[in-house]
Amino acid sequence: MTYLSVTDLRGAALSRAQLAAALPRADVDVESAIAAVRPVVEDVAHRGAEAVLEASERFDGVRPAHLRVPETALAAALARLDPAIRAALEDAIARVRAVSEADARPDERVEVVPGGIVTQRWIPVRRVGLYAPGGRAVLPSSVVMNVVPAQAAGVEQIVLASPPQKEFDGLPHPTILAACALLGVTEVIAAGGAQAIALLAHGAEDLGGGTGLDPVDLVTGPGNVYVVAAKRLVSSRVGIDAEAGPTEIAILADAEADARFVAADLISQAEHDPLAASILVTDSEELLGRVEEQLAIQVPQAEHAARVEEALRGVQSGAILVEDVERGLEVVDVYGAEHLEIQTADASAVAARVSNAGAVFVGPHSPVSLGDYAAGSNHVLPTGGTSRSTGGLGTQTFLRGIHVVEYDREALAGARATATTLAAAEGLPSHGRAVDIRFER
Ligand code: NAD
Repeated sequence: MTYLSVTDLRGAALSRAQLAAALPRADVDVESAIAAVRPVVEDVAHRGAEAVLEASERFDGVRPAHLRVPETALAAALARLDPAIRAALEDAIARVRAVSEADARPDERVEVVPGGIVTQRWIPVRRVGLYAPGGRAVLPSSVVMNVVPAQAAGVEQIVLASPPQKEFDGLPHPTILAACALLGVTEVIAAGGAQAIALLAHGAEDLGGGTGLDPVDLVTGPGNVYVVAAKRLVSSRVGIDAEAGPTEIAILADAEADARFVAADLISQAEHDPLAASILVTDSEELLGRVEEQLAIQVPQAEHAARVEEALRGVQSGAILVEDVERGLEVVDVYGAEHLEIQTADASAVAARVSNAGAVFVGPHSPVSLGDYAAGSNHVLPTGGTSRSTGGLGTQTFLRGIHVVEYDREALAGARATATTLAAAEGLPSHGRAVDIRFER
């Protein structure tokens, strides 16, 4: 039995909307998860820490002794960190930092006319709450991907939340704590899922031990569908980054692609979550056959074979047959995958024509897993088609652009007619008056 159900679009003349409807998407969408997490978010908003602790018992099977992780636990986790993992984290941090710092924006001063200046100032968000997943898998790499761009932006106050782990007495996983210590993050909260997102957004008067938690201005980070749903719920109160939910990989491949690589990459993302989407778009039935052969070999060897199989066979995954790479490009653009791999002849030229994707991985030696850890790119990326309107996490997520306007009298005189004419045309003469009055004795 094959893993990927096939949608054959060859010869189908579909509009973009019809094409979007024909492509595989998850059954459990954010809207349905909202119904599940709304009571949790509201409970945390009203009852604070006690509601978080009760939700942790229910969803994570443990009641943390401290919601705020003691700094001694952070230092101890770093002291005990396996040196090889420490070296890998340090290398990942250096790579992500190189890209994040290049992403930082200097203020831009534009002299619109002599004496009329508009400066675009980039100001970091003051206090941010970052989420690092720790449900099925624990992702210290997400600590790096959240914290490094926040630091590159110059954020003053960083709070990081990650689920409490039963086997670590209700603390987040030690590697998460060590990654925080390595990056100098000292405010760490042992909470996961919707309860963590609600706590970051609403704050709490007393976290236990007499200290409270100030609410943050912005919540970022990836997570499962419940985390995404909670972010959407709190977004009327705080800023959020893109909806970075259950992972998606789309691979646009032609007959020249190496089926071993294609299969391995489809599996690598399916390993995250039974709701993960793995999609192959190809103009080659022969390649599809080879990929299925490879899946038959590689899936049973995967450590999380059951989860991988569930994700690959899920309605959100599948193979899509198209006439040619040109049509394939249209399909992947309509889909707007979180991760898009181009494994075709002349992959760079094909990739240059992509406009909708969270991140693009070009050619046989740029697997998504590289971007997950060590490319330098960020792995917190938009899912569910939201790449059509937003990019992934980066330094700019943590910056706000503010226009600062400074005109002198001559420059204002030069703009006077434009302003008063448009004010009159809009039926707002007091706007014009506020300009004119400056030229009256
Ligand atoms: P997680 O930390 O996101 O979620 C764990 C939490 O989910 C638990 O603490 C619990 O509170 C909550 N939860 C679990 N079942 C629930 C239920 N039935 N109702 C309400 N809450 C529930 O960890 P995870 O589950 O391993 O998921 C990590 C996710 O992050 C994966 O889906 C992965 O694909 C995704 N991810 C996305 C990106 C991205 O950028 N898009 C990057 C990395 C990871």
